[in-house]
Amino acid sequence: MLLDIHTLLVAVALATAFCAGARLLLWRMHLAIPGLSRWFLAGVSAVITFVMIFAYGKLQWLPLLSSAQFFAVIGLILSWDGFSRFMGKPPLRSLVLLGMAAVGLVLILIAQTQYSVATKAVSNAVLVAVLSLLIARDLLFSPTQNTPAVRATGYIYAINGAVFLIRAMIARENSEIVDLLNPNGVAAFMLLWLLCSMIAITLGMVLMTTERLQADLDNQANHDPLTGALNRRSCGLLYEKAMAYSRRHKLPVSVLMMDLDEFKKVNDYLGHDFGDKVLCRFVAEAQKILREEDIFCRFGGEEFVALLPNTSSDTALMVANRLRNGFKIDSDLIETTKSHQSFAITVSMGVAEHQQDESFESLLRRADTALYIAKDKGRNRCELAE
Ligand code: GH3
Ligand code: MG
Ligand code: MG
Repeated sequence: MLLDIHTLLVAVALATAFCAGARLLLWRMHLAIPGLSRWFLAGVSAVITFVMIFAYGKLQWLPLLSSAQFFAVIGLILSWDGFSRFMGKPPLRSLVLLGMAAVGLVLILIAQTQYSVATKAVSNAVLVAVLSLLIARDLLFSPTQNTPAVRATGYIYAINGAVFLIRAMIARENSEIVDLLNPNGVAAFMLLWLLCSMIAITLGMVLMTTERLQADLDNQANHDPLTGALNRRSCGLLYEKAMAYSRRHKLPVSVLMMDLDEFKKVNDYLGHDFGDKVLCRFVAEAQKILREEDIFCRFGGEEFVALLPNTSSDTALMVANRLRNGFKIDSDLIETTKSHQSFAITVSMGVAEHQQDESFESLLRRADTALYIAKDKGRNRCELAE
């Protein structure tokens, strides 16, 4: 092999140290994202591993190699815990972590006491392969976070698992080939792979964090912070999508314009905080009643809009009345305030069905006109637009 093992060892140790530094920065910059501290600790563990392997290369003292293998396993367990936390899964229990570390230690000690390079190489490769494949499974089969960076990182762990399984098989046949100090063995290839995978995994962690931040920003840009409902900005964007689909399939679309009645009085008599709770309750009730494909958003203040795809005006009016009747303010909400007087909180709605080639603005205007008719007729009612 053309590549010199000692040079490669220095390169891997340096790259691992830089990666640990990058993970430290990542963690300190985003303290609120779970799992990042574990990734950094795993990086530290990897640095210790390669420093020990490097020292073993120089001193050829076998316990150094066993300790290095132990830290490699600890690093993988920490990474696994970090990925679990990042993906929102319950963190691995300390007992499980300690148990896994103990199994790793026992296997490595057995290999150490036997002074058998083959047992050592096989047990270590199997441990690394199993842990890598467990991480790959979590990343590749996540039901909630199937993003490009998560998948790419998962593939690297899967390849790592396969590489170490092959290494275990080779070590079982001929332990000399996997010996770190054998220049004609697979050591150079393994070190090159470790160099690449360490950098790729750290890059994967940075990209996963960036994806998470971008998703959080998108979420903030599209949702109202008080009620969690979609905001006016996202309503316009989603309307275009829903309309394109309905036009293609020649389906009706209706819109509900909703406004809580005499909400100023609610605030004046029961307090602004109570008003906020009412808004949240209204959103929660509406989301229970509406279908998944309906688009519900807070249009501003105490005004809300619902876009109902595949719904004609008659059905939309029925939905509107269901929403109006379903909006009940529980006594517990009222009792949390100082005032105990009975207080009816109601909502009025205007309903309009989209007409051919009509713009979103015109549709909303017609629904708004219907809403004002409902207000004029005494509130707590739904009116259909002309
Ligand atoms: P109407 O039945 O005619 O709609 O009367 P209204 O009092 O509901 O209408 P108006 O537009 O006069 O008042 C709306 C009130 O909604 C005024 C404002 O303080 C309140 N409001 C708007 N946004 C919020 C909010 O985020 N929280 C709370 N608590 N109140 C809000
Ligand atoms: Mg209003
Ligand atoms: Mg109002």
